[in-house]
Amino acid sequence: MIGSLNPQQQAAVTLPTGHALVLAGAGSGKTRVLTTRMAWLIQTSQVSPFGLLAVTFTNKSAREMLTRLSALLPINTRGMWVGTFHGLCNRLLRAHHRDAGLPQTFQILDSADQLSAIKRLLKAAGVDDDKYPPRDVQRFINGSKEQGLRPDNVDAYDAHRRGMVDLYRQYQAQCEREGVVDFAELLLRAYELLLRNAPIREHYQRRFQHILVDEFQDTNDLQYRWLKLLAGGGASLFAVGDDDQSIYAFRGANVGNMAAFEREFAQGNVIRLEQNYRSFGHILDSANALIAHNSARLGKNLWTEQGEGEPVRICEQGTDLLEAQWVVDEMRALISSGHPRRDIAVLYRSNAQSRVIEHTLFSSGIPYKVYGGQRFFERQEVKHALAYLRLIANPNDDTSWLRVVNFPARGIGARTLEQLGDLARGAGTSLYQAVDALQGKSGAKLQAFVELLSGLAEQARELPLPELIEHVVHHSGLRTFYMGEKEGADRLENLQELVNAAAVFVGEEGLMGEPALSQAARAEDPLLSGQALLLAGQGNAPDPETVGGPTLSPLDAFLSHASLEAGDNQAQAGEDAVQLMTVHAAKGLEFDAVFITGLEEGLFPHENSLTEQGGLEEERRLMYVAMTRARKRLYLTLAQSRMLHGQTRYALRSRFLSEIPDVHLKWLTPREQQRVPVDTPPWAGAYRRGDAYGRPSTGTMAPRTPRSLTTGVTVGDQHFRIGQGVQHAKFGDGTIIGLSGSGTDAQAQIQFRDVGTKTLALGVAKLAIT
Ligand code: ATP
Ligand code: MG
Repeated sequence: MIGSLNPQQQAAVTLPTGHALVLAGAGSGKTRVLTTRMAWLIQTSQVSPFGLLAVTFTNKSAREMLTRLSALLPINTRGMWVGTFHGLCNRLLRAHHRDAGLPQTFQILDSADQLSAIKRLLKAAGVDDDKYPPRDVQRFINGSKEQGLRPDNVDAYDAHRRGMVDLYRQYQAQCEREGVVDFAELLLRAYELLLRNAPIREHYQRRFQHILVDEFQDTNDLQYRWLKLLAGGGASLFAVGDDDQSIYAFRGANVGNMAAFEREFAQGNVIRLEQNYRSFGHILDSANALIAHNSARLGKNLWTEQGEGEPVRICEQGTDLLEAQWVVDEMRALISSGHPRRDIAVLYRSNAQSRVIEHTLFSSGIPYKVYGGQRFFERQEVKHALAYLRLIANPNDDTSWLRVVNFPARGIGARTLEQLGDLARGAGTSLYQAVDALQGKSGAKLQAFVELLSGLAEQARELPLPELIEHVVHHSGLRTFYMGEKEGADRLENLQELVNAAAVFVGEEGLMGEPALSQAARAEDPLLSGQALLLAGQGNAPDPETVGGPTLSPLDAFLSHASLEAGDNQAQAGEDAVQLMTVHAAKGLEFDAVFITGLEEGLFPHENSLTEQGGLEEERRLMYVAMTRARKRLYLTLAQSRMLHGQTRYALRSRFLSEIPDVHLKWLTPREQQRVPVDTPPWAGAYRRGDAYGRPSTGTMAPRTPRSLTTGVTVGDQHFRIGQGVQHAKFGDGTIIGLSGSGTDAQAQIQFRDVGTKTLALGVAKLAIT
């Protein structure tokens, strides 16, 4: 089992009981060490499979870990506690929902659901959107929860903040009423449960003797506290991570946890791995050179025995369409030379970039699979169907209620819902519970909806899950509705996929999701076995249904799965398909060939990062993550102009390209254009996009001149290009430095010699080309 590992890896795997940190760069085998250590601990009888808890970053990696584990050992991994923080907390809360103050069938709000719940709250409370924008409220609530703060503990030092805290309090009450929890709540609730309930805490502290955490650099403060609490009974904590791959600061991740962990736990037990087994030399050295531009690193040295391999190829195209076409052509060549499609990945910084690539792949007939982005479970039609299912499980879920009470339309208008909302608020109930109080015609329509739901709930007791979903799609009217819609065929197909996803889920149940625990797991777990009675005397009787029987119905389990699933597109699961994903979603994965697209200033590094403290360094870590996914071939591509959010944007090359030494690079298109002219105009800077935004470029990069672009904008009989000289009657002579839009909407950003930069509508401004 450990024979194939190098001495440092072996040392890490076989460390004696105690805390330890493996601090090592990309592809050095951290995840492999972690998995092998689990297997080794079990094999040497130091712990049973149920005495281990392992935290991974995505559901996909949890699945992979279990698969690898069962390849190493002849054990049944069902029921093992391996999953994401959210998944594990969900499981804990389901098993102890009563102690956690939740209904057993509590529903999970994803961030879109959470946002709409907040909007609803603001509206009902008559709060001014400008003063308290829903997204800010959401950020405030989640940020507070991630620091472990309930409304009473937040420091409300001024009036505005007091308002925020008040909204947080109301939001919380609304969630309680509806029996729903958001992502941050999963963690905080589970943390509080362990903190406050000594018998439960001590039980799990005794049970989990080894706690292992992958991607430790991306834990947030609350997650770290959760781990510390759980390990408080004497468990060994084994964390692996890479500070250079910390890419979730924007979501509260605190890379400082690594140093804290070393100080508080791992003192002296820090293992470094330096040999990279993933990438060939040119790729690895490029990534090393890039990340060396960051300061404040813990510092690592990575080398490979694999030889130089191919240089990193760079290709620049005129437009995003041409870029996508080039990527697809190259991909086709790779596939025909024998690379499996699933070993080829296209990465992008921003989800909006995927559309063009998807379109091009689709037209070429190459199967592909998109991770992240508009996740399957987030598509409108899927969410509608899920809302019906959620109402079957818990009719008090107001978010789901409002989503489908009048979808498809059944004559229930906004006024009726407003009345219903008032009644519910008055009585402190959910909308569902308030229906009886509403009289008249609108009352009758709502009653009919309630009857529809109870009819569906009855079916839920009879039908297996996939059939239930089919039944719901049909009887809710969704099928008929989408059949009559223009783009309905796709949507119906997705609904069919939901049925398939449920079938796959039911088949795999126990591997992930919320499994009915195996007999063995139950025997191991006193709370779930007869020994529970021992605890019952202490006032913490477990729910009778968790004793000896499955914890959740397949429907409830599937609904949690749908909320927690990290975006695997079930539609093409198993098919040999090219992989598309954001750089964030690619963390921990590896592919033979990787295309990193959109290497343009403002896109990667992202323009938002340029004004934030530490933003550029985080972008560079992202780029480091992206590059180190590649085993054999790495391509960096860019476009001189692209359509984003309905605008044509012209961009300069990403600074990251110039941070990689030439010896590792091969330019497939001319690179000369990049030369910085001596006489650089003052406006040359970061990403220019037109600019409907009316602000001069504030980028901090070395100024460069725009390349001559073949693309431009034609208005009337005049054709405008970037770099062109123009004359305006009032402003005088100038140069076009940015173009956006087309036809009558076309705008130009012009640097005038005397009056500075102005943005002018080309259809209106009278310009002469000089
Ligand atoms: P990341 O930082 O990207 O998460 P990692 O440090 O977790 O990377 P792994 O994914 O565990 O690295 O390993 C990278 C690749 O190297 C995997 O394909 C793994 O199987 C392989 N590998 C690791 N150690 C060895 C070894 N000793 N011999 C051969 N291959 C190895
Ligand atoms: Mg890893």
